[in-house]
Amino acid sequence: MAGHVFGRSAAQMPTAVAGAGCYIIDADGKRYLDGSGGAAVSCLGHDHPAVRAALHAQIDKIAFAHTGFFTSEPAEVLCDALIAAAPKGIEKVYLLSGGSESVEAALKLARQFFLETGEPRRHRVIARRQSYHGNTLGALAAGGNAWRREKYAPLLVETYHIDPCYAYRHQAVGESDAAYGRRAADALRTEIERLGPETVMAFIAEPVVGATAGAVPPAPGYFERIREICDEYGVLLILDEVMCGMGRTGTLFACEQDGISPDIVTIAKGLGAGYAPIGAMLASGRIYDAIAQGSGSFQHGHTYHGHPLAAAAAGAVVETLRAPGTMAQVRAKGATLQSRLEAALGQHSHVGDIRGRGLFRGIELVEDRDTKRPLDPARKVSARIKAAAMARGLICYPGSGTIDGKHGDHILLAPPFIIEDKQIDALVHMLAEAIDDAMA
Ligand code: PMP
Repeated sequence: MAGHVFGRSAAQMPTAVAGAGCYIIDADGKRYLDGSGGAAVSCLGHDHPAVRAALHAQIDKIAFAHTGFFTSEPAEVLCDALIAAAPKGIEKVYLLSGGSESVEAALKLARQFFLETGEPRRHRVIARRQSYHGNTLGALAAGGNAWRREKYAPLLVETYHIDPCYAYRHQAVGESDAAYGRRAADALRTEIERLGPETVMAFIAEPVVGATAGAVPPAPGYFERIREICDEYGVLLILDEVMCGMGRTGTLFACEQDGISPDIVTIAKGLGAGYAPIGAMLASGRIYDAIAQGSGSFQHGHTYHGHPLAAAAAGAVVETLRAPGTMAQVRAKGATLQSRLEAALGQHSHVGDIRGRGLFRGIELVEDRDTKRPLDPARKVSARIKAAAMARGLICYPGSGTIDGKHGDHILLAPPFIIEDKQIDALVHMLAEAIDDAMA
C-alpha cells in the first residue's frame, strides 16, 4: 500500500488484515507471531471472545454519549473494577484515550493539587534519564530520552532527570541488590535538595522501564525508598504503568510487587488490549478530596473521555485479567520465557543481559559481554533484528539508546498472556536466528 499516511512509510510495511490468537496475518496470508503485543498492547491476543462480545453488545446499544451530559454503564463498571483492584489509597479514576493523555492528565492534576493546597511554587518535575512518558508536549518533557526531546526544546514542563535504577550497568561489583536499590533511590533526595523541595511537584517513573530500556526492573527496596523520600519532602509520586501495568508483569499493577502505593498512576495500552484506544489516570483519595474541597473539580476533559465503546472493551479486558488464575499464568509463562531465553541466548557473545518481570522481558545487546561495551549505534542492530524477525514471521519491539539515549540496543518482548509453551519456543527460536542474521 502506498497511501497518504502521514508518518512512517507505509509502502515498506505489510498490510495487517486479520488476527488469530497470538498471530497477525497480512494481505499475503503470512502469519506473524506477536512476540511484543505490538508495543506491549495486545495482552489478550487478537480475537479474544469476551472482548469481542462486549464490543458487539455495546455497539448495539450506544457507541457515544458526551460525558458533559451523560455517564454510561460501561464507564461506571470499568472504573469500579479498576478501583477494586487498585493499590491502597487510590480511589478515583479519570478515563482518557491513551497513554500520553493519561500522563498529561497526571501532571496537570498534580499541578492543580498544589495550586489549591497553597503551594503554588511546586511546579518542577523530576523524572529519570531512562524513561518514556509519551509524545504530547507535557509528557515529552517528562520523558528522559535525550534524542526525542532535543528537537522540541524548550519544553513545556520544567523537568530534571536523575539516573535510573539500572542494576546491569550501575550496580557496583560486590554491592548487594538492596544496597544498590537504596543508593539509586537516594539520587532523588539529592535532586530534591538541589532544586529546593518547595519547588518540586512530582517524581514520575515507570516501575519497570519499557520502551526506552527493555524491561528494566527496579532493584529490591528501590521504590520503598522512593516512596519514603517523596513523603518526607511532600513530593507526589506518579507511577507511569502505561506499558508495564495491566498484568504485564504478573500483577495487575506492577507496583504491587514493590509494596508501595503511588499518589497517581497512569495506565493505557493493555487496558484496551488493542481493542480500543483507552487510558486512565487513577489518583489517591487525598488528592481528589483536596481538589473537591478547593475549586470543586479537576479542570480537565476530552471529547472522547469515558467513551462507552472503549470502556466496554476495557471492562471486558479488566474482568479477564482479574479472573482467578490469570496473573499466576502470566508469572508462570514469564518464568518459562525467561528460562528459554537464557537457554538459547544466555551464552551468546552479543547478549549482555536478559531481564524483566512476568511476560515483560528485555534483552540488552552488547559488542562485548565481558566489558559490556555497547554496539556501534551506526550499525542499528536492534532495527535490523526487528526486520530480520519480521522476515521470519516474528514481531519483536526494538529499542536503541538504552544506556544514555544514544548508545545501547535492546529488544523488548511482551507477548499476549494466552501464549502457549510451544509458541514461546517458536518465539525464542526465531529471535535467536534474527539476532544472528542482524549480526552477520
Ligand atoms: N508512558 C509509557 C511508559 C509508554 O510506554 C508509552 C507508550 N509507549 C506512553 C506513556 C505513551 O502512550 P501512548 O503511545 O498511548 O500515547
